[in-house]
Amino acid sequence: MNDAIRARALISASALRHNLARVRRAAPSSRVLAVVKANGYGHGSVRVARALTDADALGVACGSEAAELRAAGESRPIVILEGVFNTDELAWAAHHDCDLVVHTQEQLALLEQTDLAQAVRIWLKLDTGMHRLGFAPEELSEVWRRMQACDRVAVVRLMTHLGRADERQCATTAEQLREFERSAAAWQCEHSIANSAGVLAWPDCHRDWVRPGIMLYGASPFPDGHPATEELRPVMTLTTCLIAVTRRRRGDAIGYGATYTCPEDMPVGVAPVGYADGYPRHAPSGTPVLVNGERTPLVGRVSMDMICVDLRSQPQARPGDPVTLWGPDLPVDEIARSAETIPYELLCRVGGRVQFLDE
Ligand SMILES: *Cc1c(COP(=O)(O)O)cnc(C)c1O
Repeated sequence: MNDAIRARALISASALRHNLARVRRAAPSSRVLAVVKANGYGHGSVRVARALTDADALGVACGSEAAELRAAGESRPIVILEGVFNTDELAWAAHHDCDLVVHTQEQLALLEQTDLAQAVRIWLKLDTGMHRLGFAPEELSEVWRRMQACDRVAVVRLMTHLGRADERQCATTAEQLREFERSAAAWQCEHSIANSAGVLAWPDCHRDWVRPGIMLYGASPFPDGHPATEELRPVMTLTTCLIAVTRRRRGDAIGYGATYTCPEDMPVGVAPVGYADGYPRHAPSGTPVLVNGERTPLVGRVSMDMICVDLRSQPQARPGDPVTLWGPDLPVDEIARSAETIPYELLCRVGGRVQFLDE
């Protein structure tokens, strides 16, 4: 059963395609590995993959995410961005024609020691300064030699990940690029560096493959904005409708913890969406919500299943009136800033009872 009034996420395939076209315009010579990890950043990985027929390959974090795409009939290359960690996962990945990122000695040894029916394509991850995953530059020549010697390896590509590409004035990205150049120069193969921020702000890092995630969903990788993101179209609209409108008196406190007190007699609306649906509990009073398309402030704490809104600007509002939490008319980036997080987290947390519909 679908609840008639609970939150819905409308997903726009045309916005996804528009944003992929934006990636192509920014990086016309690169192939596109569309990142659909975390259930397509909360949009549904299979739905996103089907909309993005023009992507050259798909990127997921782990084997179970790849399995979901293969089970849905996806036949393009799928890159498992964290690689695999045991023989079963490796055998599964090879059998299902998934590409693997290799970033540790353990993963390299696993490849060398496992008998595989098919050889796999490997993306060798180099740590150029983010210091999370990847081989150190000084390890690369030995790792490369062992990869070449391994008959389970079909193709080797070199990749790295940028730690601060969303900070446009920061010197780190240029340093990471220099380190990549220095380390990768000795080997002939395809390269991949850029995430969304790299695609939009650092053309030097486009190379053979770009790996956009967040920009495909129409949200910005830059916490303080960037003109290049204005052309993106938000893919998800999170909506519900009012379930109650009540009149409160001056001095009435609203919700858990009584964090908001009505400054005057005023109407307050209740909408059935809360942190169990992925709306951030840390969104403070004042966070914008659209009621009948008009901005109104959230008041009081976000509950598990509900939020309250100030309806002083809309005294005519009634139960059943539409409420939008984010979408084309209210950027998720703005809600993320208000809740002191990033759009990535808000989008990938949408779920639970939320009903997903194709727009
Ligand atoms: C998640 C991820 C991306 C995509 O990053 P965005 O900032 O969403 O564009 C690219 N590359 C790797 C290795 C990732 O893990």
